[in-house]
Amino acid sequence: MTFQELNLNQFIIKAVEEKHYETPTDVQEKAIPAILAGNDLVVCAHTGSGKTAAFALAILQSILKEPVEIESSKLIRSLILAPTRELAIQIGESFEAYGKYLDIRIGVVYGGITPKQHIKVLKREPNILIATPGRLLDLIGKGYADLSKVEIFVLDEADKMLDVKTLQDVKKIVSKLPSDRQNILFSATMPAKVMKIVYSILKNPVKIDD
Ligand code: AMP
Repeated sequence: MTFQELNLNQFIIKAVEEKHYETPTDVQEKAIPAILAGNDLVVCAHTGSGKTAAFALAILQSILKEPVEIESSKLIRSLILAPTRELAIQIGESFEAYGKYLDIRIGVVYGGITPKQHIKVLKREPNILIATPGRLLDLIGKGYADLSKVEIFVLDEADKMLDVKTLQDVKKIVSKLPSDRQNILFSATMPAKVMKIVYSILKNPVKIDD
């Protein structure tokens, strides 16, 4: 299969070609069409499988495909939660690379930088926000992040977010999302605790293994 066959916009494909990816990986081949079809999705995938591009390419395409009114375009349309700042930064860099020819704003917030820097990120009105749960919850509490227009929610590396505090933070964040949204969960392993998150957050998910 080729990236062209995945029905991605030519400007997304141009950015992918510049990364010298020749063909989609297995997980990309399966997950991209499922995300574009609007399904909730649970994906068992390891780092190195190409999982980040799987959701990043599909989310960029999905946002392009459904333009919104100018007012809503200032709001966050996709939220990606990641367990660590390193992963959040890496996901942000992937979105920037694949979206370099698109007029879509990407923001990343994580523990370790000053509240001032985060507020600056959010004032730029990102369409896609990548965040670690604790820091995002702080910013929501202070009224800086409006999640009411999120269309696609991603929980990445869910099996690394199982400690009590992180799980509570994730649940509080999910409660701020509109109920009509698409949910995608990635995890390298699927222990009972991850399945519990799947059952509580996702609706009739399609299951994909890499
Ligand atoms: P990930 O599993 O998302 O951490 O990605 C692992 C690595 O694979 C990253 O360095 C990506 O840049 C790279 N990658 C993602 N998709 C492809 C692809 N279709 N072909 C070649 N490399 C890829």
